[in-house]
Amino acid sequence: MFPASFGYHAARSVEEALDLLTKYGEDAKLLAGGHSLIPAMKLRLASPRYLIDLGTIPGLGGIRIDGDALTIGALTVHADIVSSDLVRRRVPALSDAAGVIGDVQVRNRGTIGGSVAHADPAADFPVILTALNASFVAVSPSGSRVISVDGFFVDFYTTALAPNEVLTEIRVPLPPSSAGTAYHKMAHPASGYVVVSAGALVNRDSSGRCASARIAIGGLGSGPLRAQATEAALQGQRLTDDVMAAAAAKAAEGSDPADDVYASAEYKSHMATVLARRAIEQAAQRATS
Ligand SMILES: Cc1cc2nc3c(=O)[nH]c(=O)nc-3n(C[C@H](O)[C@H](O)[C@H](O)COP(=O)(O)OP(=O)(O)OC[C@H]3O[C@@H](n4cnc5c(N)ncnc54)[C@H](O)[C@@H]3O)c2cc1C
Repeated sequence: MFPASFGYHAARSVEEALDLLTKYGEDAKLLAGGHSLIPAMKLRLASPRYLIDLGTIPGLGGIRIDGDALTIGALTVHADIVSSDLVRRRVPALSDAAGVIGDVQVRNRGTIGGSVAHADPAADFPVILTALNASFVAVSPSGSRVISVDGFFVDFYTTALAPNEVLTEIRVPLPPSSAGTAYHKMAHPASGYVVVSAGALVNRDSSGRCASARIAIGGLGSGPLRAQATEAALQGQRLTDDVMAAAAAKAAEGSDPADDVYASAEYKSHMATVLARRAIEQAAQRATS
């Protein structure tokens, strides 16, 4: 399939991209790696009259430590997150997640900003960024704002970003050395997208008990789900196998997954408990190593 014809603008700065967005309004779409937008255009699910390419703007990619956060430019491709020593050392769950996205071509072109802005319910980054309590920097003609992950993913393919905003940065609070992170995924065998996935951030106190935990599950609804019953069951507990298994068994509580041709709702709920347990155990183990 071929997309409908469109005009193309290679933006040279965020300001120019914002001016073009203001000029064209609903007729325009931002283009990052194109690995979600172009397929949607080929299927005529999206037919923007203008594409505003962000890939030509210098400085929108890259990974650095900024104060107490790991800051990732929106145009950073998945492969750069996989291969970053900094990410692997400080927030290994982000490497885990980036490394299981699609295939090598997708990881070389797709961007973290495009992934979260697209908000596919079967995407990997929204889940792990929820567990990591990330925030998102959005710039519009009236200035910039920071959006917390807990209010960012609004519905299927819908985020809190306004149509005239460009996402420029993702900020991940650096976990303390007493904390570990992990991400586990059951991938669809045909598409590679998430059937169910789980991300975990587990922080231990000096006695080895769980000081705090954030657990997120993907694949059970319109976006990432905080497994709050699991988090509560870990809080203050010694992280024994029994405690982690009992907490993980609550991972699907409060969700209402749908049956689909590949997996029933019951199977997805069960896999959420299995993957949550793997993620919690690995995060707890990384917290001590
Ligand atoms: C074969 C295949 C397999 C895949 N498998 C997986 C998988 O297993 N897991 C997974 O998570 N993903 C998967 N993907 C999706 C992939 O990760 C995409 O790269 C990603 O979802 C979108 O990133 P992009 O840079 O390509 O964005 P684009 O396609 O360029 O844009 C996507 C949307 O985000 C908007 N947008 C992009 N950047 C910004 C920005 N900075 N500010 C505001 N809006 C913006 C665009 O306007 C558009 O609406 C797969 C894709 C393909 C083609």
